[in-house]
Amino acid sequence: MDRPNAVLSVDMEWFSHIPAYRNARGSMTENDVGRSGVELLLELFGNADATSTFFVVAKIAERHPELLSRILESGHEIGSHTYDHVHLTEVDENDRHEQLQASRETLEDATGASVTGFRAPSFDIAEDHFETLDVTGYDYDSSIVPCRSIPGWYGGTHTVQRPVPADQAVDGASSSITELPVAVMPGLRLPLTGTWLRFFGVRYVLWGMRLLSHRGITPILYVHPWELVDLPAVDGVPRRVYWRTGAWMRRAITRILNSRFAFVPMRSLTETD
Ligand SMILES: [Zn+2]
Repeated sequence: MDRPNAVLSVDMEWFSHIPAYRNARGSMTENDVGRSGVELLLELFGNADATSTFFVVAKIAERHPELLSRILESGHEIGSHTYDHVHLTEVDENDRHEQLQASRETLEDATGASVTGFRAPSFDIAEDHFETLDVTGYDYDSSIVPCRSIPGWYGGTHTVQRPVPADQAVDGASSSITELPVAVMPGLRLPLTGTWLRFFGVRYVLWGMRLLSHRGITPILYVHPWELVDLPAVDGVPRRVYWRTGAWMRRAITRILNSRFAFVPMRSLTETD
């Protein structure tokens, strides 16, 4: 029997880009915390014969073009995760346009490959999101998590669980953009991925992936390279951010990649659906 498809995408940002660090009292002296996590991910994907989509903070591409080339040469897709990881609802319309446009152009200049996919930092999108994606040259988005409302997090806004033209996910959105929503546990409607993998463990994730797959939905997961490394202690970063990062996370990803699923880039889902 064919292995069902799944996606283990990467939101490629450094520890310094995450809101929990930016809002913390303390700071760190290390640069590029998470870079070695990219190397580890390339190794783990390679060992499992898996390919993926790396949604890259474009500023990283300016400093590390060689890393982007290695990602592409390993058979992965590059998408955009904005220019510098701002929350899109915290800037104005012009800045949103600039974040989407400049990131796509920067990533394309660095790699020579076309960039057609986008994921918003913290899944934070404004009302003009799909229209802006359309005019700045994207084909698909993966910034919707159809989970229940979780106080202090996100959720409660969207219900669409499978790839659809964006106007079926959000009223008035552009139908030329395909939305590829991130996986949530059927019934429970909590995210299957991100911090929830580290909270609930690998069996929770694999169980949810099987349930989704039985419903004909390709599970879309995501990880961050900084989750695979030993993080520096920074005063004011909540403990949950550190929970099970490093060795635990490396083992967890290995187990997921060695499951019965075939891991593919996001773009392949827009081609088959
Ligand atoms: Zn991010």
